[in-house]
Amino acid sequence: MSLANGRAYLAIPGPSVMPDAVLQAMNRASPNIYEGELHDLTRSLIPDLKTIARTEHNVAIYIGNGHAAWEAALSNVLSRDDTVLVLATGLFCVGWGEVAKGLGVNVQTIDYGNTEPVDLDQLAAVLKADTDHKIKAILAVHVDTSTSVKNDVPGMRRVLDEVKHPALLMVDCIASFGCDRFEMDAWGVDVMVTACQKGLMTPAGISFVYFNDKANAAQGDCVTAYWDWRKRINPEVYFMYFYGTAPTHHLYGLRVALDLILAEGVESVWDRHAILANAVWAAFDKWSVPGGIALNIAKPENRSHAVTSCVATSPDGDRLRQWCEHQAGLTLGIGLGRSPSDAYFRIGHMGHVNAHMIMGVLGTMEAGLKALDIPHGDGGLAAAVMVIANATRGAA
Ligand SMILES: *Cc1c(COP(=O)(O)O)cnc(C)c1O
Repeated sequence: MSLANGRAYLAIPGPSVMPDAVLQAMNRASPNIYEGELHDLTRSLIPDLKTIARTEHNVAIYIGNGHAAWEAALSNVLSRDDTVLVLATGLFCVGWGEVAKGLGVNVQTIDYGNTEPVDLDQLAAVLKADTDHKIKAILAVHVDTSTSVKNDVPGMRRVLDEVKHPALLMVDCIASFGCDRFEMDAWGVDVMVTACQKGLMTPAGISFVYFNDKANAAQGDCVTAYWDWRKRINPEVYFMYFYGTAPTHHLYGLRVALDLILAEGVESVWDRHAILANAVWAAFDKWSVPGGIALNIAKPENRSHAVTSCVATSPDGDRLRQWCEHQAGLTLGIGLGRSPSDAYFRIGHMGHVNAHMIMGVLGTMEAGLKALDIPHGDGGLAAAVMVIANATRGAA
């Protein structure tokens, strides 16, 4: 017997749940790629992508996942033998640094470990010591999906300005985009990369590189024809938006996803993610006991609203995930880059998620904790319910 049959729920930090409207928009014949509707639709995406990123600068679209956007961003601003500073708060920024190395760029890393955000004082000290400004760019993640830490991006800009360092501020918002508050222009971000399969609720396959004029002027010799973002913005011929055939069906899906976000309102989308994340944390506040499960990030202000990284005593993280998968139809995320790997797991709560889905995740996890006799405190789901109730009190 299993209680898993029914509609499955993928609660992992990307790909995220896709709205039916996105799926339906993609379920269609191939369009005319030479003229007409597809061209208009593509042009209509650009201002909306900028609205969500809170920027008036540029955005280039690439057919590729987040890793493609990493390479695109780096290759447009760096030259071989340049140096970048990686602010590592988990696996993902380290991965972005690896891409830089592959381009022939020197990588200097400050490793903040797996449970803390970027320490701005330490960043200031490293930048101050770089008196001849060898560091061309800082690579940071807004939310590191492996640890679920959220970094203080405006704080990084403040530090750069205070020490008068000209390095570009390059930020990976792949996990946080459309989930956690992000304001590219107000925060002084020069380059931002994101992708479509997390907060943007569209199947993996397209990614975005945002850049301002300072980043555009930094052109180095790493760039090749395919990655060149200059060709892709405001192109005279449609073909150049994607340097080849357009990702037609992704564009139809993305159009609907952006419509959903803008209809709800970007601020409301951020608020929804914040409240649902608070519900997850409230459950953990009750569940956490010595030898049981716990959140990876101690301070609420350092936690992502899109993903939560959790730890249990080995091998209970794996046992709980397997139980949720096979007994309840709920897929939780694996731990990434942590040891022992069967202790860590993650909950995705990004994009097309609402109160009943999150309470379903937490209720399912609580049933699993009990079914498997994993040590935990009582009342996790009840605490999450109160977060939801209090956030909506009196509304109908
Ligand atoms: C998912 C993710 C990536 C990688 O994106 P892919 O589409 O899998 O290449 C990079 N950085 C962060 C922060 C992510 O969450």
